[in-house]
Amino acid sequence: MDITRRVKYEGELDHSFPDWIASVPGGEKIRECIQCGTCSSICPLSIYMDITPRRLIAMADAGFKEEVLGSFSIWLCSSCYSCTVNCPRDIKITDVMYAFKRRAIEERIFPSKKFAIPILARAFADMVRKNGRATESHLVFLLALRVGLGRLFSLTPLGLKLLRTGRIRFRTEKVKDRQQIRTILQALEAAA
Ligand code: SF4
Ligand code: SF4
Repeated sequence: MDITRRVKYEGELDHSFPDWIASVPGGEKIRECIQCGTCSSICPLSIYMDITPRRLIAMADAGFKEEVLGSFSIWLCSSCYSCTVNCPRDIKITDVMYAFKRRAIEERIFPSKKFAIPILARAFADMVRKNGRATESHLVFLLALRVGLGRLFSLTPLGLKLLRTGRIRFRTEKVKDRQQIRTILQALEAAA
């Protein structure tokens, strides 16, 4: 069932959600949205989205937290900034999209149970923390294990081509001074 089409009662809405958006950098002016639709019409990916950017902003402002954070749209956004530079109300929609993604990861609200993007992001971060670099072949394998091996088999012909041309390796890739990477990451975490 399309969750955005289910009737929702006032008591089910999260009225702290718009306040939270207004507190994140870029979302300060969300309440000034005039629903002009410029963001949706200019977004190159809105035709693939389950909720268009204009509708996302309206739903977020109304407190539809679960629907907004559980939408595919926030993960489809390619951060092209077209919506942001054209919004007549100076709402930084791209930054708001990033804030939605961060909150979705924090609250573990995803469009599906085996949603690949946060799994990939976590595996990538762990690998960089450990080795200073990500090894693509290991990432693909880890992802396939978590979301289903069927996908791995369908990617085999492409993987073989990449192997033959040296674009992908099985050997773990590492930087020389891994401690330096860890120190940088620790400093970033402490500053966040
Ligand atoms: S372009 Fe700006 S004002 Fe217009 S609908 Fe989108 S967010 Fe709202
Ligand atoms: S930044 Fe994201 S939402 Fe905005 S126009 Fe680009 S792809 Fe669409």
